[in-house]
Amino acid sequence: MTQPEIRHLLQHGQPGQPATVRGWIRTSRGNKNVLFVEVSDGSTIHTLQVVARPDDVAEETRKALTTGASVEATGTLVESMGKGQRLELQATDIRVLGPAAADQYPLQKKGHSLEFLREIAHLRPRTNTFGAVFRLRHAMAFAIHEFFNERGFYNVHTPIITGSDAEGAGAMFRVTTLDAQNPPLTEQGHVDFGQDFFGRSTNLTVSGQLEGELAALALGKIYTFGPTFRAENSNTTRHLAEFWMIEPEMAFYDLADNMDLAEAFLKHLVSKALERCPDDLQFLNDRYDNTLLERLRSVIAEPFQRLTYTEAIDILVQSGQKFEFPVSWGTDLQSEHERYLVEQHFGRPVILTNYPKDIKAFYMRQNDDGKTVAAMDVLFPGIGEIIGGSQREERPERLEQRMHEMSIEAENLWWYLETRRYGTVPHAGFGLGFERLMLFVTGMGNIRDVIPFPRFPGNAEF
Ligand code: ATP
Ligand code: MN
Repeated sequence: MTQPEIRHLLQHGQPGQPATVRGWIRTSRGNKNVLFVEVSDGSTIHTLQVVARPDDVAEETRKALTTGASVEATGTLVESMGKGQRLELQATDIRVLGPAAADQYPLQKKGHSLEFLREIAHLRPRTNTFGAVFRLRHAMAFAIHEFFNERGFYNVHTPIITGSDAEGAGAMFRVTTLDAQNPPLTEQGHVDFGQDFFGRSTNLTVSGQLEGELAALALGKIYTFGPTFRAENSNTTRHLAEFWMIEPEMAFYDLADNMDLAEAFLKHLVSKALERCPDDLQFLNDRYDNTLLERLRSVIAEPFQRLTYTEAIDILVQSGQKFEFPVSWGTDLQSEHERYLVEQHFGRPVILTNYPKDIKAFYMRQNDDGKTVAAMDVLFPGIGEIIGGSQREERPERLEQRMHEMSIEAENLWWYLETRRYGTVPHAGFGLGFERLMLFVTGMGNIRDVIPFPRFPGNAEF
């Protein structure tokens, strides 16, 4: 039979009420007269203290009440004498469902390093930290769907395996069923992907945007929320090889509308985190970074600073700051530059617009100056780029000319170009890296700690 989870019992339970809990032992101690067993069931950062008389528990069971073991305890809720918790469970029956040998269970002690926990990704969800992170992850995913649903957006599922490798957002992972030892060859001696599963060369997607645009040009406002894959060998604290991206795409939106949406979206998500996960955030704040709550509140309170790339370059050049990578007009901003603008100069999130066309993708709308495109990046404290987006080039001739300049073969993207030939409209969109959002909301320092099973160079064990 299903039972209310601990989260529910702690909130709504009344002294005298019969209850059963099932979960995993965090700690267990006792003496001749009384046993105390802290049980977590993952529904909340809080444990429920189970109290029992040793006489009520068989010797064999008592010995198995060790950290990590799974248990079921039945009894009555009573007011707690101890500090912290309102209620505890006075148990008349405790059963061990699955023991965890005390001399072997890796999470015996508290306070393991995050590096160590990464090596036991199969067990780390059982720690307070990862419980909090994954509950927050759920709350954010839910709030994302809620935000768009309330605003009349439709969720679209774009393909994960793609035949178009032209987007240029990053190096791709090949998808093939050809025999790696002995692939079929063409007459010229190249691998013959014509004989591959799809009759062509295919990869894992780096973005759902191009397909998202197709849907927006029919449904009006859409968003995708799916996994994306980038094979760059970047061992940073902000990059994963497999990450989740949210990509809204809106017909009839210009760059200003796009910025307004991005700002409202991020503020909505941060305020939902504060509203719905106060205990988990308090824990992360106290344990890792005591400015977390303050930072989350400040992002909601103030308007984001909007300025052009060109204005930002002026600020960076005049800052007198020594950067590892020098800045000048035309260079791509590194995260040190982004963070200088956000953390030192403005002290709040920044939206940079109108980047040089040569450092941005072919589909961004060309500005009249001939040098820049209607791009926008949202930069956040501690993170740098959290969102990248643009108004899209809706004029067919301009789009084709840009593809030509960038050596992108139009034949491969004929379907994308047709949307510009048949009923084209101004439109815009952006991509939010879900794990970058999670870094910000949790205050964790490494992106590998905000996804259950991180994929990065050399790591795909779990
Ligand atoms: P960066 O310059 O930080 O590497 P990008 O400009 O290559 O990012 P986009 O192609 O604009 O990234 O992707 C949209 C969003 O996806 C980014 O704003 C970021 O939030 C997120 N993102 C991009 N690459 C990664 C990655 N490897 N791991 C996690 N999130 C990523
Ligand atoms: Mn970007």
